[in-house]
Amino acid sequence: MRKLNLLLLFWIVFSFRLGAGGLTYQFSLDLNRVVDGKLLVTLSPPLVETDEVIYYIPKIVPGTYEIYDFGRFVSGFKAIDESGKELEVIQLDVNSWKIKQSKHLFQITYLVAPSWHSKSGVPVVFEPAGTNIEAGKNFVLNNHGFFGYLEGKKSLAYQISITHPDRFYGSTSLTDIQSQGNTDTYQVANFVKLADAPIMYNIPDTTTIHIGEASVLISAYSPNHQVTAAFIAKGITEILKAQQAYLGGTLPIRKYAFIFYFTDKVTESGNSGALEHNRSSFYVLPEMKADYLLQTLRDVAAHEFFHIVTPLSIHSEEIADFDFMVPHMSEHLWLYEGMTEYSAGLVQVKYGIIDLNTYVEMMRDKLVAASKFKDTLSFTEMSRHVVEKNYHDQYNNVYQKGALIGMCLDMKLRKLSGGSYGIQEMLRDLSKTYGPEKAFNDKELFDVITKLTYPEIGDFFKKYVIGGAPLPYKEVFGWAGITYEARQTAKTITLGNFELGYDTLLKHFTVAGITQLDQFGKKMGYQVNDEIVTLNGKELTLENAKEVINAYWGSARPGDELRMDILRKGRRGKYKRKVLRASVLAIEKVELNTLSAMPPDLLAAEQKEFRKAWINQ
Ligand SMILES: [Zn+2]
Repeated sequence: MRKLNLLLLFWIVFSFRLGAGGLTYQFSLDLNRVVDGKLLVTLSPPLVETDEVIYYIPKIVPGTYEIYDFGRFVSGFKAIDESGKELEVIQLDVNSWKIKQSKHLFQITYLVAPSWHSKSGVPVVFEPAGTNIEAGKNFVLNNHGFFGYLEGKKSLAYQISITHPDRFYGSTSLTDIQSQGNTDTYQVANFVKLADAPIMYNIPDTTTIHIGEASVLISAYSPNHQVTAAFIAKGITEILKAQQAYLGGTLPIRKYAFIFYFTDKVTESGNSGALEHNRSSFYVLPEMKADYLLQTLRDVAAHEFFHIVTPLSIHSEEIADFDFMVPHMSEHLWLYEGMTEYSAGLVQVKYGIIDLNTYVEMMRDKLVAASKFKDTLSFTEMSRHVVEKNYHDQYNNVYQKGALIGMCLDMKLRKLSGGSYGIQEMLRDLSKTYGPEKAFNDKELFDVITKLTYPEIGDFFKKYVIGGAPLPYKEVFGWAGITYEARQTAKTITLGNFELGYDTLLKHFTVAGITQLDQFGKKMGYQVNDEIVTLNGKELTLENAKEVINAYWGSARPGDELRMDILRKGRRGKYKRKVLRASVLAIEKVELNTLSAMPPDLLAAEQKEFRKAWINQ
């Protein structure tokens, strides 16, 4: 028989659990205890051998290209020793705390306020990168917003214990999890991996789909139950399968998580969208009837999922060894965001999810959107300096001109290779050369790609990506039998060119602005805030607007009458029904960046072949 000293055993277990003096970070968080909208973070830190140490909360995180200062959401920072005595702490800046006598550091505690709806000043954190604390409803743990690291110890392991309300579930791509009662404990290899894996807690609506050997979790939080995980799964399975085929039949991952938060409020940033991670992506999208969201879901999910290629499998040293405090930006945003965005559209047309005309419209939207940015700015220079003031407003062009750079590069490669080699093959080759664990040198990438392909591709990079020359749209679209016109005047039928709005309360389209009214619009006599009830006798709703308006454009001829029934507020604020009518005029309009695909029977043999090789149409 052997007796164990109960107190000693308790002490061993207890100190092991707290891990003071260990080699891991041990964090805990209790989602049941929200106080003033904040959560208390408790840390048993790893052993510190120095007299002073700095604790950091990230200033910037991968994929955002913006300084967010997550430290600004932290308050009440305390460090204590083994006896419970407070150690001196000096806050060095918004994101760092210097702890004195840190050899005795036993525990750190602080409160975290959510970045969502925080009114904490600019820049507002883009919601998919932020944190949400909605007691009893939903918690978005972008871990970089709650947890930090000690100077020089970013690569130690983390153990995160999260206690959650009954029936809640944590959706994440993390796999090493132990659950006991309402507490989940996650083991993560280091801070980079922790910051890369958001967790969303709520009463779950999840489903899992299998794409090849990868199991893909889909988790949806839709407060009014408008969108379900099952709907999303159905909507994106086809595209994920196409992406698998596009990537050569196998995916470079085994587990992936799509985590969606649908909001019924306007976000503080005014934006919606997603942030990519190695094994997951996190979405904040407006909550609406699921059918309206379908194409948006597809486009954005395809984009985020393709990030498993760039930058996750093909990236520079700046990204591999990400510095959360001092951002060093890579010059290759054309690759990380531009190529990803381009590939997300390409895969849809190539595998028959959208047709040629929809694809041409998609690229035209990009041409139009890109024209609002500085076309002559070097893309590599913008990329390197993107967090700086003078360049930041150009960032969104990565989704527009960035994608168009990808398209021109793809077409150029197809042309030079007689159709057999495009960016699909190029990215595959680059993934083989590099990979998740092997980064490229920022300065060498263009040379590597040029060696892999053709000398002309080196010239392409010099001229259009490093230099600021306008992309050769007319030439490349011409190869595929698509006519590009930089500027065109044409006589078209209009509704009068008022600014279209929507009144969510009365559920009518509205006249939101009349500063750009054309001659016909003036004849109609629109006024701001007119609520449009019918168009040529047909009720105009969110569901049928596109169809009704397209039918009008397609059939109306000059001299026909357009009749609109509207509601207009009188002097006393009451709505009165009125009829606006005028005979239709053909208005001369300047259209910029137009595209039109020639029908197949008008294509030259060469164009036909090229179109087939490029987009399989
Ligand atoms: Zn992206």
